[in-house]
Amino acid sequence: MYCNYCGKVIQDDANLCAYCGKRVGAVTARKRLVRPRTGRKIAGVCAGVAEYFDIDVTVVRVVWLIVALMPPTVGLLAYIVAWIVMPEEPEVHSAPAGQQVTTT
Ligand SMILES: [Zn+2]
Repeated sequence: MYCNYCGKVIQDDANLCAYCGKRVGAVTARKRLVRPRTGRKIAGVCAGVAEYFDIDVTVVRVVWLIVALMPPTVGLLAYIVAWIVMPEEPEVHSAPAGQQVTTT
């Protein structure tokens, strides 16, 4: 296959391009910037960002809060924008349509 970024021929099962180092192939499909349904505090933006960049969610929250509280409130705006833009993680338990799950 070809690298989408530099156009060079790379291994079919390669995750990273050997020439430019960009992420290619199936990994990009799995690594999506979504807001996880679990482990979220407000909208799951920080958890999603942490998962995407493979870093501690606490670090993301602390950094984001510091940025958010510093005028002008760019971080706060960025959070709201990310909230709107980032898609929600698909629901894991998908009950068939018309079938109601009663827990009472
Ligand atoms: Zn490349």
